[in-house]
Order: sequence, then structure tokens, then C-alpha cells
Amino acid sequence: MGEFDFIERLKRAPKEDVLSIGDDAAFFDGYLVAKDMLIENIHFLPTTPIEMVIKKLFVSNISDICAMGGYPKYCLLGISIPDKYTFLDNIVIAINKMTENYNIELIGGDTTKSRSDIFLSLTVIGKPYKNLLKRSGARPGDLVYLSRPVGLSKVSLEKELEVVDFNVDPYLHYKNEPELKLSKYLSESSFVSSCIDISDGLGRDASHISKQSGVRIIVEQNKLDISIFNGLSLENPIDYIISSGEEFALLFTVKSENNEEFESVCREKFPDVKSIGYVTEGEGVYLKDSSLMRNISDSGFEHKI
Ligand code: ADP
Ligand code: MG
Repeated sequence: MGEFDFIERLKRAPKEDVLSIGDDAAFFDGYLVAKDMLIENIHFLPTTPIEMVIKKLFVSNISDICAMGGYPKYCLLGISIPDKYTFLDNIVIAINKMTENYNIELIGGDTTKSRSDIFLSLTVIGKPYKNLLKRSGARPGDLVYLSRPVGLSKVSLEKELEVVDFNVDPYLHYKNEPELKLSKYLSESSFVSSCIDISDGLGRDASHISKQSGVRIIVEQNKLDISIFNGLSLENPIDYIISSGEEFALLFTVKSENNEEFESVCREKFPDVKSIGYVTEGEGVYLKDSSLMRNISDSGFEHKI
């Protein structure tokens, strides 16, 4: 079974006025809560420096809070450590660095031994800056934006896994930053109709907006930035852009009546933000190249369980 079918089966109608399973974070009583896990030999290799893993653990969670228009305040850490791991100082230093860097307070967690692999689980609690950004508000006519070019995380992951030998940092995909500054602006403006962060891949993540908003998303191939791959002889750069995960860029839609004002703010304050497509009636996510349409709803990563 796929990860997303499993999650679908867990869903129940939420009690009271709570935003629960199905968005980047849950929302209740004014708080946003997100949780992500990183497992050795699934998400990272035994050779990956633990500082890199801990950075990704924090960023993936903070990014989910950003995707809801919020900022992080508190966290709880679950960690299971096997005997083979003897550099506990590195773990402590890396965690302290993250909580200081992102101004988050570690308020609890759990620590256990494990048989052979390291398991890490982080729960981050945050607050929305102002408006909540959900996956469900995109409407036909809205434009689709990406906060920065994506694609290099996948190249760097393949380098770490030694399936390609490009001249790229194999740990680049552990170094992405969450979009805290942009999240503040998006939440405080009233322009945004839907938002998600890119954790599984542009195609797949756009399909979450498409499904939850009940719309079709068109990504225009000529608007995707392939210049980030300059110097790398990739056979199909577009495939990297639509399926690269753990980018932690934001993908969002802006109401049609606000596009001009939004773009003029971006030119000044957020120059990496670019429009990559638009919303229509229908379903699915399609990559448009002149007159050709290719369904990219499944482009990206899904755990099989
Ligand atoms: P993201 O990539 O933004 O972290 P996921 O694809 O991991 O989001 O999860 C999608 C939604 O499903 C989120 O709301 C998440 O909290 C929820 N979810 C994932 N796994 C479980 C689970 N085991 N039990 C309950 N909810 C889950
Ligand atoms: Mg997310």
C-alpha cells in the first residue's frame, strides 16, 4: 500500500473546529503542530553526518509550519540510539544549534536505545503569523508560484547514493532552509489561496493542492528554471524539477485579482519567487509544453508500506 492510501484510511471527521490529518500541520486552539521522522537506512545512510540529519529533521518540520503561514515556537524530540553510535556529543551540539538557530524551545520528548539503526522524530509546535495557509483554497484563474527553483536536492541525493557522479555536493539536500520570511509575508497578506511545501516532489505536492481544492493545476514547462543545473549534463532536467523532494520551497496559489500587486512586492522583496503555472477547473496536475499535456500528479516520492 502507498503511504497516502494508508493516511487516507486513518482519516476521521475532525471534532470541533480543528484542522487535522491532510494538511502540512494540524491547527487547534491557535497552535500549529507538525511531526516528521527520519530513519537510518530509509531517509539517510549510516555514513551521513548526524549534523546533516538533524538539520533536515528540524527543517522538514519547520517547513511544514511555514507552509501553513506560521513560525515555530516549541518542539519535542523522540530519539532511539543504537550501541554502535558513540558520538553523543555531536547529537547534542547539533540539536542545540538548531533550537538556537530557529529560536525554538525544546520542551520534551523521549529517548530510548535501539537495536541497530538511529530513529529520530520531531514534533514542532508553532503559531500562524496571521492567516492560515491551507492546501484547500485554490480556485480556477489563480496563478501558481514556486518560492525558489527546485531540482538540485534530487541530484545531490543521487550523488550521495552514488547513482550519479555529477560535480555536486552530496549533502546539499540536507542544507535547504525553510521559507520563514516568505511565510510571514504570505500569511500577513490576503493574496494566497493555497499553499504546501515541496517535500515529496513538485508534481506530487501540487496534486495535494489539486485534490484538496478540487481543481486542476497546470505547470508551464517554459517557466521552470533549468539554469540551476548549469554545468551538470542532466539528460532530463525537467524530470528532476518535477520530482525532486525535500526541497522545502513553498508552492502556492495567489488569487487572480492580486497577481499584479503580489508580483510587484516579490520583485522587490522575494526575487526568487516565480509564477510557474495556473489553476483551471478539473483535476490532476499537468505539465504543459506548447500543446502537449503530461500528467505529473505522481511525480515525486511516496513510501510503500
Ligand atoms: P508532509 O510531507 O507535509 O510532512 P505527509 O505527506 O507526511 O505531509 O502527511 C500528510 C498528512 O497526513 C499530514 O497532515 C500528516 O500529519 C498526516 N499523517 C501522516 N502520517 C500519519 C499517521 N501515521 N497518523 C496520522 N496522520 C498522519
Ligand atoms: Mg509539508
